[in-house]
Amino acid sequence: MNLRKVTAASAAVLALALTATACGGDDSKDSGSGSGGGGKIKIGIKYDQPGLGLKQPDGSFAGFDVDVATYVAKQLGYGPDKIEWVETKSADRENALARGDVKFIAATYSINDERKKKVDFAGPYLLAHQDLLVKSDAGITKATDINGKRLCSVAGSTSAQNVHDTIAPNAQLKQYGGYSECIGALQSGAVDAVTTDDSILAGFAAQDQYKGKFKLAGLKLSNENYGIGVKKGDSATVGKINAALEKMVSDKSWEKAVQDNFGPAEYKNEPAPKIGTIVK
Ligand code: GLU
Repeated sequence: MNLRKVTAASAAVLALALTATACGGDDSKDSGSGSGGGGKIKIGIKYDQPGLGLKQPDGSFAGFDVDVATYVAKQLGYGPDKIEWVETKSADRENALARGDVKFIAATYSINDERKKKVDFAGPYLLAHQDLLVKSDAGITKATDINGKRLCSVAGSTSAQNVHDTIAPNAQLKQYGGYSECIGALQSGAVDAVTTDDSILAGFAAQDQYKGKFKLAGLKLSNENYGIGVKKGDSATVGKINAALEKMVSDKSWEKAVQDNFGPAEYKNEPAPKIGTIVK
């Protein structure tokens, strides 16, 4: 091969590489901020949690987290038509923020020290408590009753972690990808109980197909302070989201979202938390 040809070929490759890098740079800036392409904002929610974040048969989304996220997005300058919802399962949340897949996450996401090493949080905007969901005729009434029993929770959740650490270290814990899978396992008899936040369990228990079949133990096994997760270091967004959450409470939209989404499940929620104050 003659040298000139080789040089020309290398130059072409180099030019392509440079173009690709330039494009890649722009792309990653867009998705990196979670707010690129066409003035849209990408927001992480759950898709399988009735009352909090649920994808409906018609493809729309409903729940308290969805309403909070929609309100916050509006305050950030993005109307409902500018929102692109992204499913962020419990185990995926930190990575989704680190990668820049979403601008923020409102997905029953408890604030804790471990997670704060990887992401930043605005809020809290709701205080929930870990509880157990069992069949209505089950004799499980306290946490120690589940030692030795088959218990379902979700990978990457504080619920699963708390079972190991404190609540029932001797339970046979099965960890699934989402709570809807745990509910299926409870119904089929594959597990004896499901554990996570009472807010989530109440939403499932109130679904038509489960009415009268399941009950919450009502144990308040932990304090779960729901925060809105943002990329580590994005303090500007944390500040804006906190201002939006304060406004949501003061203009009564928070209370309305609570009634709309928790009312049907008769979930007795705690009062609106004070922004920046974590209940230990
Ligand atoms: N709030 C708990 C958590 O952040 C449990 C619910 C969930 O998995 O999203 O892990």
